[in-house]
Amino acid sequence: MIAIGIDIGGTKIAVGLVDENGTVLAQQSLQTDPAKTPAALIAETAAVIHTLLESSGTAPEDVKGIGVGAPGPLDAKHGRLDSPPNLPAWHGFGVVEELKKHFGAWPIHFQNDATAATLAEKWLGAAREVDHFIFITVSTGIGAGIYMHGRLITGASGNAGDVGFMMIEPGAAGTEGYWEQIASGTAIARQASELLGRPVGTKEAFDLAAGGDAKMRELIDITYKRLGMGCVSLINTLDPEMLVIGGGVSQIGEPLFDAIRAYVSQHALSPSGRRTAIVPAALNQNAGLIGAASLVHQSY
Ligand code: ADP
Repeated sequence: MIAIGIDIGGTKIAVGLVDENGTVLAQQSLQTDPAKTPAALIAETAAVIHTLLESSGTAPEDVKGIGVGAPGPLDAKHGRLDSPPNLPAWHGFGVVEELKKHFGAWPIHFQNDATAATLAEKWLGAAREVDHFIFITVSTGIGAGIYMHGRLITGASGNAGDVGFMMIEPGAAGTEGYWEQIASGTAIARQASELLGRPVGTKEAFDLAAGGDAKMRELIDITYKRLGMGCVSLINTLDPEMLVIGGGVSQIGEPLFDAIRAYVSQHALSPSGRRTAIVPAALNQNAGLIGAASLVHQSY
């Protein structure tokens, strides 16, 4: 059976056909053009789905359902976006209801994108063997999904895991101190630019630090510490066996993971918490699409 995955993002909507092994059989993207209405973009998405089904020779009876991953905050129960900062035109828009106008026959699953990526890491990625883990994406912002006791924890409205808005360090970097204000890719670039008095990108800040720039070294070290602080709070609160970390910033790799592991090994409360496995996400490529499809194949 085939799942249709739809990953709605601030810049693009990715659509794909994903089989029961998690293989993406066909995919296509369209721009999330702010000049178009959400209903028009869903109509375009539907047209893309028809094209993909036809070109891959997939019969309607081979489709198990549609999975949608969307940016939060959202209302998972009613299939609506709530107030995603990057999609202002979509505030309150009923994605599931609109999709039903085009595809009435198939079940439609709808979750926060980080939640969907979490399920994909359990299904096919770094967390296959564990029943208690947290997936954290350090990207433009910071988001997470929670998987405990062998199941996703989505909360009353589908917004569990909005860890970017955990208060970590009030006043840090001239902000209120929410985690993503002080430790996301955006936060790194903003602080680096302030320190060097010119526009500096996130990757460039890491490269300058690696090349010996003292100000950037200090910034990266404090960022690693702040990432560790958030991880410690999550470990102390939820007692996971593993943290899976993905997102653009995690592409830096071992230096970031080593620094977070070192912080956690000193600051988590319980001895088992201090030993929490902290590993890279396995599904960075197509994570959104496979996550959306996993909602269908794993029945969430
Ligand atoms: P999104 O937030 O749209 O899901 P990403 O997960 O790619 O996108 O995260 C984007 C952030 O990650 C940006 O701040 C970007 O500068 C940063 N980033 C992307 N690639 C790297 C890299 N190789 N090293 C460090 N930072 C990176």
